[in-house]
Amino acid sequence: MGTSSKQSQQSCPRCFSDKTIRIILWGLPAGEPDPAIYTLGGCCVEEEMPEMECIDCGWQGSKLDVKKATRMRRFIWTDEDAPGIIYHRKFRITDEALDALETSEVWMSAKSFSSQFTPKSIYGPEGKMSWLWDLSWDSEDAMRSDLYTNMGGGVPIEIIDKLIQIIVSKNLRQ
Ligand SMILES: [Zn+2]
Repeated sequence: MGTSSKQSQQSCPRCFSDKTIRIILWGLPAGEPDPAIYTLGGCCVEEEMPEMECIDCGWQGSKLDVKKATRMRRFIWTDEDAPGIIYHRKFRITDEALDALETSEVWMSAKSFSSQFTPKSIYGPEGKMSWLWDLSWDSEDAMRSDLYTNMGGGVPIEIIDKLIQIIVSKNLRQ
C-alpha cells in the first residue's frame, strides 16, 4: 500500500476523499508530526480555529463535520468498498448509463457540446465532475438537484435530463 496504517479512514465533507483528512496542529509542534495524521495550521492562534483539514481540496472545519461525512460515506458507492457490504442508494451514475447517454439522440444532436466531450469525460470516475460518480441518491429529485448544481457544470440541460431519465428507467427495470 505504501501508506501509513495509521492513516485515518475519515471522509472529507467536500470532496469525499477517504485519504486526505488531517488533524490541524496549531502552534509550533514539538518534533515531526506524522503527515498521515496531521497537518500544520500555523503558529498563530486565532479565535475560530478549524480542527480538521482536507489536504487535497483544502476544506477546513470541525471534527463533527468529518464524522457526519464519514457516516454518510457508508451509503455512497465506491468500487473501493468491495468486497465488503456496499451500501448505496437507489440511483447512481453507472458506466452502463453513460454508454446509453452517448448513443442517445439527445447527446448526438447536441453537436457543439458532444463533439468536445464524452459522457465519461464529464461524469465518469475520472471525469470533470467525478464527484457525482461517487454519489448516490434516494430520489429522482435529489439526483436532479445535484446534477443541476452550478448550472449543471455547463452541460446542456437536455443532456442532464436524458441522463436522469436513463438512470431512472434502468432502476425501474431492475
Ligand atoms: Zn477534500
